[in-house]
Amino acid sequence: MTQNSYSFGKASLRRLAECHPQLQHVMRRVIQHRDCAIVCGFRGKEAQNTAFAEGKSKLQFPESKHNQTPALAVDVVPWPEKWASEAAFTELAEIIRREAKSIDVRLRWGGDWDSDGDRTDQQFHDLPHWELALGELALGKSTT
Ligand SMILES: [Zn+2]
Repeated sequence: MTQNSYSFGKASLRRLAECHPQLQHVMRRVIQHRDCAIVCGFRGKEAQNTAFAEGKSKLQFPESKHNQTPALAVDVVPWPEKWASEAAFTELAEIIRREAKSIDVRLRWGGDWDSDGDRTDQQFHDLPHWELALGELALGKSTT
């Protein structure tokens, strides 16, 4: 087993399978370079409205991209740091951006909603959240 050989666990694979094929494709490339875990793929009505009530999402069902089938958003955390390290999220984000670009998939990150490289110009930070950018101009608008 080589140092850079990572793989998703069962729960991650199950959640990833709920996501749009393009998101699956990107994440399968990412895991080859950086260990990470999928914490959310599809989110049903009850789970979405719980996330809304807890302030983890700004949207109620069915407005989130996690509410589509397949899910148009995926939540991924660096492993084993999980939520502990913002630096690890940033490092993971660079790899996700690079791998998405290499296969022409356009993504928006909850750590930089308007994708301008400035992480200080937003109020709602959703570091694990990545969603497909489907040609919309929803600049600065959270779609968690
Ligand atoms: Zn999310």
